[in-house]
Amino acid sequence: MRTARVIVGTAVLACSVSSIAVAQSSDLDPRIVKLVASVSEERLGAILKKLESFETRSSLSSTDSPTRGVGAARNWILEEMRSYSPRLKVDFDAYQVPPQGRITRTVDMRNVMAVLPGRSPRRIYISGHYDSLARPGGQGASNSGADTQTLTAPPADPNAPLDNLAPGVNDDGSGTALTIELARVFSQSGVEFEATLVFMCHVGEEQGLVGARLHAQRAIAQKIPIEAVLNNDIVGNDKGGNGIVDGATIRVYSEGPEDSPSRALARFIQRWGGRYVPSHRVRPMSRPDRFGRGGDHSAYNQLGFTAVGFRESRENFTRQHDVRDTFEGISLPYLAQNARVNAASAATLALAPPAPGVLSERGQPMITRAPTGYDANVKWTAVAGATAYRVFWREAWGPDWQHDVLVGNVTNLVLPNMQIDDYVFGVAAVDAAGHESMVSAYVTPPRANTPITESGARP
Ligand SMILES: [Zn+2]
Repeated sequence: MRTARVIVGTAVLACSVSSIAVAQSSDLDPRIVKLVASVSEERLGAILKKLESFETRSSLSSTDSPTRGVGAARNWILEEMRSYSPRLKVDFDAYQVPPQGRITRTVDMRNVMAVLPGRSPRRIYISGHYDSLARPGGQGASNSGADTQTLTAPPADPNAPLDNLAPGVNDDGSGTALTIELARVFSQSGVEFEATLVFMCHVGEEQGLVGARLHAQRAIAQKIPIEAVLNNDIVGNDKGGNGIVDGATIRVYSEGPEDSPSRALARFIQRWGGRYVPSHRVRPMSRPDRFGRGGDHSAYNQLGFTAVGFRESRENFTRQHDVRDTFEGISLPYLAQNARVNAASAATLALAPPAPGVLSERGQPMITRAPTGYDANVKWTAVAGATAYRVFWREAWGPDWQHDVLVGNVTNLVLPNMQIDDYVFGVAAVDAAGHESMVSAYVTPPRANTPITESGARP
């Protein structure tokens, strides 16, 4: 990424665009550096061992035991997060769900939600799913083409709890432990965030993203402004079942098209996770998820929210949806690195102003060729808290921003002799301390088809 000097008080970038690259200054916030450094491998390990001790956390398991099953697990998660800080508001996000799909009987579905209020109601989520699943053969059998209908056949008695052993330490104890640990780190950081942070442990993922869908539906009904969801599902193992080890990267899946808000979030994580945790490489993936697999971020996407899914670099399918998904399959240093990338990204986003608007009142992107007819002229709407804006561009073929320039507190930039047809442009809001929003891209809206009527006569 090339970064240019600040241009204050002018709307025209007079120099040639190829000459604006200068050395990048250090713009890391020491408070975020400290927050990221306070992620504890030891605590992640203790949380995982506790989650494993419930033996199963299936959403359809028994709820009457104080030590085993989903009821005991959700109570422990609630009390654990409540112990971190009085600033953290921890509650069940509860629903009663009648039989449908893979839900065999009426069950009480409870997400465990910890809210760290910010100055604004804008919400940024860090999440995982605490429910677990194990079935004969596990994911390894599913991948080998086994009859999954048989493997997931409903129990003979639909009212019987599903109490078979399902430790789920990686799927998704790892994402749950990451979420719980970051609830501690953020709530004890002493930092006052602009946005409200939510640490969400979803239930019912294995029954079809049920807890996430229910919460997203409720968010729409209650007009809760969810700005971004960072979902973590299977993020604790770095040794592939094929023997290949990669402890230095994390995959981030996002729903398209290429300049969708979810792709913007993935790029944001790559940019800011990469700056604060340079020892860990974020690998954005231009697809909603892995082939044939799903996760809670997709439930948010389907209801119109911006959400991405973090997935470990190399998977071991013999340890997924299987009794072998135990603590032995976890690399704590690797899980901690993934937690640090989440922490850096969410903290930066939660301290930054919201992203600028780039659409006119008529819904058109505010980009023209004015004044000469051969220039790039981009406009945006000012956002509260911004003292500068960063304009990005890239050739209109390829996913990563290639150039950017920081401009002052203006709402317009002219890049002379840049053909707008050849580049994608975007703009981010920046506050006085350098916290940067996600990038709003100027995207051509799809054109409706115009059907042509024929007379019916033969020419
Ligand atoms: Zn999962």
